[in-house]
Amino acid sequence: MRGDACRVREYLLRYIVLTDIHANLEALDACLDHARDRGFDRALVLGDLVGYGADPNAVIDRVLALEPVAIVRGNHDKVACGLEQADGFNFVAKSAARWTLDILTPEHRDWLAALPAGPIEVDRLVEICHGSPFDEDAYIFDELDAVRALKVATRPLCLFGHTHFPVTFQLTAELKLESGAKYLVNPGSVGQPRDGDPRAAYAIVDVEACLVELFRLNYAIEDAQAKVIRAGLPEVLAQRLAVGR
Ligand code: ZN
Repeated sequence: MRGDACRVREYLLRYIVLTDIHANLEALDACLDHARDRGFDRALVLGDLVGYGADPNAVIDRVLALEPVAIVRGNHDKVACGLEQADGFNFVAKSAARWTLDILTPEHRDWLAALPAGPIEVDRLVEICHGSPFDEDAYIFDELDAVRALKVATRPLCLFGHTHFPVTFQLTAELKLESGAKYLVNPGSVGQPRDGDPRAAYAIVDVEACLVELFRLNYAIEDAQAKVIRAGLPEVLAQRLAVGR
């Protein structure tokens, strides 16, 4: 009886999937408003909440309010909270990380530092990670990376981020999950898209319908840019938001 109840609960879920928010509050709010209209039950957050954008504290508060059912850290989270050095970062990423470390409240810094590394098995269908299921900092760009990741994945649907490129390795806006197959899906970046499309990206996973929907949304890019400039962050971080690069 108890097992049945759990199963029903598990399969009635719709997850909002957010990754690479990168302290862009305007983009995050656009995604949340859109997802609330469509309906979702719980949130999955795949890391890189901060770094690059001007609202790290507000973004963390928004994510906390969502009470994500699962969340993993990203490489920028680790550097921005002082857990790791910015050795592999370029100049812009490094200065944004330093700025973020200064402006984060001590509570938010500690909270970021305590975020788990992926992968996390969320339920029988879904697992999440930042970079890949075999290494939280590895990038999945091509089929070779994807095959390696799919072999390691323990769930049919592995959600990942890190590259800021929305991709399912089938490249569809809607993915119907077939039983017996395994999938690797990156919903794209909420706060700093890099595929040439400046709109905010996120996904909804409907566990009951076995459906993944990928969305792109217009948001107040100018507001996010103005905040980046006002914060004294490198200007290129404002410019790139308009071109999605
Ligand atoms: Zn990122």
